[in-house]
Amino acid sequence: MQNPERRKHRIEELVVNWHITEACNYACRYCYSAWVRECRQGDLVQNPKDSLQLLQDLYQFFRPTNSTNPLHSVFDWKKLRLSLAGGETLLYPGHTKRIVHEAKNLGFNLSLITNASLLDNPEATDMINSLSMLGISLDSANPQTNRLIGRVNTSNQVIDLDDLSTKINQARATNPNLVIKINTVVNKYNTDEDLTELIERLQPDKWKVLRVLPIISDDLAVSDLQFHSFTERHQHLGKVLSVEDNQDMTESYLMIDPLGRFFQNQHNPTGATPYIYSKPILQVGVETAFNQINFDAEKFAGRYSKPTVEVAA
Ligand code: SF4
Repeated sequence: MQNPERRKHRIEELVVNWHITEACNYACRYCYSAWVRECRQGDLVQNPKDSLQLLQDLYQFFRPTNSTNPLHSVFDWKKLRLSLAGGETLLYPGHTKRIVHEAKNLGFNLSLITNASLLDNPEATDMINSLSMLGISLDSANPQTNRLIGRVNTSNQVIDLDDLSTKINQARATNPNLVIKINTVVNKYNTDEDLTELIERLQPDKWKVLRVLPIISDDLAVSDLQFHSFTERHQHLGKVLSVEDNQDMTESYLMIDPLGRFFQNQHNPTGATPYIYSKPILQVGVETAFNQINFDAEKFAGRYSKPTVEVAA
């Protein structure tokens, strides 16, 4: 007999991730920022008219009050957040700043993911006030490990942790409501490291630990045991720590690539076709493009909510 009752989640925010560019000043060996494109296809973010249209279309479809959005059958959400990711989001700060301000005006909450190397750019400082969250990708406290991973620019500079600490404090002073999140990808070079001191020093509101995803290459892959050991080593940090293994990351993010297509990852160590794409959103509309990719709404809701039991007809 079918149970007419089912669980429906309530979440604070629906998060849409737009990877605005794949260009970066670092060269991480596991980097996932590699999207298939026809030659001469530029990033949408460089076209002010098209990028504004994309923002408007996304807001119309994903705004919390759009009752026709099919995700409402699984969860309700109070706010919509646009998370800008890369590549490096601060490489072309003028474009990023324009997107931040336009999205804010439309009604999005905003977050920005960065490798933090360009955070002292004045345009970045200007954006901080419009953000609800600043995500910083940081894999190691050890310069040599960062070099091995590829977290190094063409001038052979790696992140300076004193400098980073200062920048984070400045960002907090500029926007006291800003949530600071550190993202760490566990890979073969940092898997034995203890990052406790670093995390205690930077005091992020959230530290997300992700297992390297072998979609472009499995060169830096870690075993179940290695990943488990890393997370166990840091369990004492308590609630600030949030862990995502590979299966948690599959089809559980709403992601848009630099050309304005939804995409999802698939396991493919050869790197031949790491992603599955929708048609460009501006070509076919958000709803049609969204229906062309798989998205596990339950998994997404599980990440952002403590499920509440609701009785649904
Ligand atoms: S910092 Fe991020 S975008 Fe840049 S190379 Fe590394 S993983 Fe890729």
